[in-house]
Amino acid sequence: MTQQQSAPGPHDTTTAEAEAVTLTSELIRIDTTNTGDPATVVGERAAAEYVAEKLAEVGYETTYVESGAKGRGNVFARLAGADPARGALLIHGHLDAVPADASEWSVHPFSGAVQDDYVWGRGAVDMKDMVAMTLATARRFKRDNVVPPRDLIFAFLADEEAGGDYGSQWLVRNRPELFEGATEAISEVGGFSITVRDGVRAYMIETAEKGIAWMRLRVRGRAGHGSMVHEDNAVTKLTQAVAKLGTHKFPLVLTDSVREFLAAITELTGLRFDEDDLDGSVAKLGAVARMVGATLRDTANPTMLNAGYKANVIPSLAEAVVDCRVLPGRQEAFERELDEILGPDVEREWVTSLPPVETTFDGALVDAMTASIVAEDPGATTLPYMLSGGTDAKAFHTMGIRCFGFAPLRLPADLDFSALFHGVDERVPVDALKFGTRVLDRFLRTC
Ligand SMILES: [Zn+2]
Repeated sequence: MTQQQSAPGPHDTTTAEAEAVTLTSELIRIDTTNTGDPATVVGERAAAEYVAEKLAEVGYETTYVESGAKGRGNVFARLAGADPARGALLIHGHLDAVPADASEWSVHPFSGAVQDDYVWGRGAVDMKDMVAMTLATARRFKRDNVVPPRDLIFAFLADEEAGGDYGSQWLVRNRPELFEGATEAISEVGGFSITVRDGVRAYMIETAEKGIAWMRLRVRGRAGHGSMVHEDNAVTKLTQAVAKLGTHKFPLVLTDSVREFLAAITELTGLRFDEDDLDGSVAKLGAVARMVGATLRDTANPTMLNAGYKANVIPSLAEAVVDCRVLPGRQEAFERELDEILGPDVEREWVTSLPPVETTFDGALVDAMTASIVAEDPGATTLPYMLSGGTDAKAFHTMGIRCFGFAPLRLPADLDFSALFHGVDERVPVDALKFGTRVLDRFLRTC
């Protein structure tokens, strides 16, 4: 009893809030650049060891696993809950980050500088912020002997930025026991606020992700001399097909998550989304229009071209890579449409194919997310949305785990948040980290 009286109150998170800021900064200082080329990836092991040490310091038993190659470090820890019969909640975060060119930045991208009320550096919002908030909360729970309502699995992972072949995807295939009992999960790219009216915020919770389908195109032609008349030029044929595909507009398809998001925005703002001009009305959403606009239809963006070796030699082969993002339920129709656009001369193959993810915005876990947000930001609401990109949720979804993007941040109204992802001068408000830590504390006590 005495112990309970002297312990900090259930919502006194002062220490954890301060730790979240320090941990974000220190994690940024560990360069975990993931170029996508396994030979050049650095720092994941150091970051994983740092996390493991922070967990062990307060009494966690940790498991360190290298996923598929040396140095691809992942760390796991569990906290037993009050009801072992309930499925566990997985809280996962990736430790790697995309490259940063220091010459473009106002501060060094691996400085973790805390200045002007922001923590600066590569990974500040993607996603060392959430890793730090999770770590700070996990440490607080252990120190204060908090028993969450159900088991919590903390997972800190490698290789998200290159698709998880040396991280989540490998772990799901080779070490499924690490996720045993998990029924639901939270992680990045959700839980952040948008300001819908003066001082009124809505928090976007990710309930869906488009599928990732990277496609290689190949056209074969007849090799020949560049000085002659030539009817069968592989470069000409390929570039015609690529240009056609790159400017093609796939049909508008409103999936449940997008429909619910738009309806919630209408309710909050009165803004109407006319189906005849959905692109136009979505554009009025401001900074989030980029994210939402990409979830109205499938997209196919050409990203790489490769052909030829000499100015006067017509090559017999030309290749391109196209980054396709496909809505839930659209894969077959999408492929039919692709074949129509590309025509019979273009061969296509998938080089990466990760199916879409979608869950519903309801149930006790969603209620707990909303309640913990509203407790810290009275008057706020939550709404579901679909991410046009992909996260480690793709891997965990295949295990039957319900995945959400819930990394709570209360953001200033004028911050262009989505531009910070993989952007120059990536940074996270100190106030948002403290807010997120308070929300996470409440959420994990009621999940
Ligand atoms: Zn990320």
